[in-house]
Amino acid sequence: MAELGAYRCIECNREASELYRDYQRGVLRISICKSCQKPVDKYIEYDPVIILINAILCKAQAYRHILFNAKINIQGKLCIFCLLCEAYLRWLQLQDSSQNTDPDDLIRYAKEWDFYRMFGIASLEQTSFIVGIFIALWQMRPEMLKKKSDFILLLKALLLSSYGKLLLIPAVIWEHDYAPLCLMLIKVFVLTSNSQAIRVTLNLNQMLPWLAIFIGLVLENGTVCLFQKMGWNV
Ligand SMILES: [Zn+2]
Repeated sequence: MAELGAYRCIECNREASELYRDYQRGVLRISICKSCQKPVDKYIEYDPVIILINAILCKAQAYRHILFNAKINIQGKLCIFCLLCEAYLRWLQLQDSSQNTDPDDLIRYAKEWDFYRMFGIASLEQTSFIVGIFIALWQMRPEMLKKKSDFILLLKALLLSSYGKLLLIPAVIWEHDYAPLCLMLIKVFVLTSNSQAIRVTLNLNQMLPWLAIFIGLVLENGTVCLFQKMGWNV
């Protein structure tokens, strides 16, 4: 049996040592939580698509399954891919806003440098946003972020819950009059996901995660202002 704390009950957030018990000869029995008397993690029997739909609906149980029990380790790749989507969107907007028809500009257009610059700016903004959230939560609930593993888990939760940024690509490809509205809705969805991820990871109420996100946004916008003061087209 694994140590207590290896998993979490998705209903009451209590620590659990196992998700199911193997009785040999193909007999498996899902574990029942000692605290709430419900299955520790019903999602281990569910199809991944159903789990994803529940995560899109921001259900706390689905978030607990993904963050504590599923042992998913794709946050690094997901983060880079989301940043690439964001950099591509900004790069497109930069080309649209550039009215220069100078032939030399076509060469400049083809340069990859602008894309890398946008990727760098998007990365710094994302870092500022996450640092702002960490500072806010560390100030409000220092007892929740005592160990290095607490920080790592929160970082993982924030990166995984930003998966909504992948929607930027279809929003740009199927360009239409409602694109600005779509981009705003994607932003709201990502922030709602982030809030739910913070709430589930630290077992907080609804208010504190939104406050932390607000401070993260302030720091992110501060970084944007800094870039603009430096004369960079963000
Ligand atoms: Zn329970």
